[in-house]
Amino acid sequence: MKKSLAIFSLTSCEGCQFEMLNHYETFNGLLKYFEIKNFRLGQENNFDENFDIAIIEGSADGEEQIKFLKKIRKQSKVIVAIGACAHLGGIQSERNSLPQGIFHKKPTKIVPAVIKTEYIIPGCPINHAELYHCLLDIYWGKQFFLPDLAVCFECRVNENECLIKSGKPCLGPITRSGCNSVCVNAGEACLGCRGAKPEPNIEKLKKILEPMIGEKETENIMTIYGDLTNEIDPSAKK
Ligand code: SF4
Ligand code: SF4
Ligand code: SF4
Repeated sequence: MKKSLAIFSLTSCEGCQFEMLNHYETFNGLLKYFEIKNFRLGQENNFDENFDIAIIEGSADGEEQIKFLKKIRKQSKVIVAIGACAHLGGIQSERNSLPQGIFHKKPTKIVPAVIKTEYIIPGCPINHAELYHCLLDIYWGKQFFLPDLAVCFECRVNENECLIKSGKPCLGPITRSGCNSVCVNAGEACLGCRGAKPEPNIEKLKKILEPMIGEKETENIMTIYGDLTNEIDPSAKK
């Protein structure tokens, strides 16, 4: 029997939803297991009812979105928050650390800070295969787990030269794997979009990076996607 699925977006660039649609053949494969009841980006006819699973992209900005999020929680058995915006706060959370008075808005909030969230799929954008794996595990009543090694592990498997050795600041040692070290494979440093791995040694990495780029820049790169250190243990909250 099919389970009902809804896909909603809060403050975000909607890139994670596009990542799902980009791989439309795999996305279509999901329709064997799920009936999509609400998906503004992907279909005309949407329903405001109860759902087996609700996928939420983006961070909650302001009272209206917080109210909306709480309503979706009441209507859904399982919440899956997707992307760095929902998980860490995203680029928009940069404003949370600016002095009060520059913006007349309250801080943007990550999804697990507002509602109980069963699963998080990290990344900017997400890895679509990881999301589909999670959805199918939920369908079959299995517990889904994220990989808990550092990006460095995948980077070494991919036989990349370590960028830190050539003076480029890289957050791979403290960032959760699962992206196949895609940025480093292309010659760019990891910026931590998947959030921290379990028990990250942040202080040790700071000691390596600060002599290279200074204290302030080290602080800056560690907050580019929001609070990199947000633990993924959403079920422990609320
Ligand atoms: S996580 Fe990245 S790709 Fe996804 S919605 Fe946020 S900014 Fe866009
Ligand atoms: S380049 Fe970055 S991810 Fe790769 S091994 Fe070095 S620190 Fe780790
Ligand atoms: S290498 Fe780092 S920044 Fe790039 S996708 Fe992976 S976790 Fe995100």
